[in-house]
Amino acid sequence: MTKPSNYICQWDAILNLEQLCSRGAAMGESHFIIGVDLDGVVADFYSYMRKVAAEWTGKDIDTLPTGVSWGLPEWGIGGEYASLHHFAVTQRELFSRVDPMPGAALTLREFSKMEDVRIRIITHRLLIPNFHKMAVEQTVGWLDYHGIPYSDLCFMQEKGAVGADVYLEDGPENIKKLSEEDKRVIIFSNSTNIRITDPPAGRAQNWTAAKTLLMNEYREYKSRIRGQELQ
Ligand SMILES: [Mg+2]
Repeated sequence: MTKPSNYICQWDAILNLEQLCSRGAAMGESHFIIGVDLDGVVADFYSYMRKVAAEWTGKDIDTLPTGVSWGLPEWGIGGEYASLHHFAVTQRELFSRVDPMPGAALTLREFSKMEDVRIRIITHRLLIPNFHKMAVEQTVGWLDYHGIPYSDLCFMQEKGAVGADVYLEDGPENIKKLSEEDKRVIIFSNSTNIRITDPPAGRAQNWTAAKTLLMNEYREYKSRIRGQELQ
């Protein structure tokens, strides 16, 4: 079985490639699709942003807590998040220089070797307008540099609009929304999502645990497929 060719989806793309991603979901019906978020899941977003925020605010980095909530109020960013994000990407190459989460690249490479598994990266990195080209170029280069495999790369706000058999996600609003849409979602645990009740697919504290939970979902998928074939 040959995997479908790669394509890139962009949330507000000129060519409306969002539709292409949706079609890809249908095309991938014979694959187990892992929908994986980048920041806070594959990329150690908060560690890098903590350094940038220390520089941006002029504060000693040791005074910035590592446990943060969505929007980074603990770092005194206030209403300047968009400016900080813009500075981080355009001047500090956030998406090129951020470290991968330990074990993320290796685990995704292992899944990518499974013939009936498809890795679909779904990220909302285009949340701030006017520097999308840089954000996309940094992202693609970073994925290649770290040997992170994927079949599809979707820049999407509405993650549920992109099909996946299971989502690996850390954003609290995305987790809530995917759960409300009855999607299977594994929480990649961090301080931003700690108050959310664990969903049926579980919560992973790291990529070792994420691999176990993803394999559980894969086995259930295979069992469902076998059951359908017997009917
Ligand atoms: Mg995230």
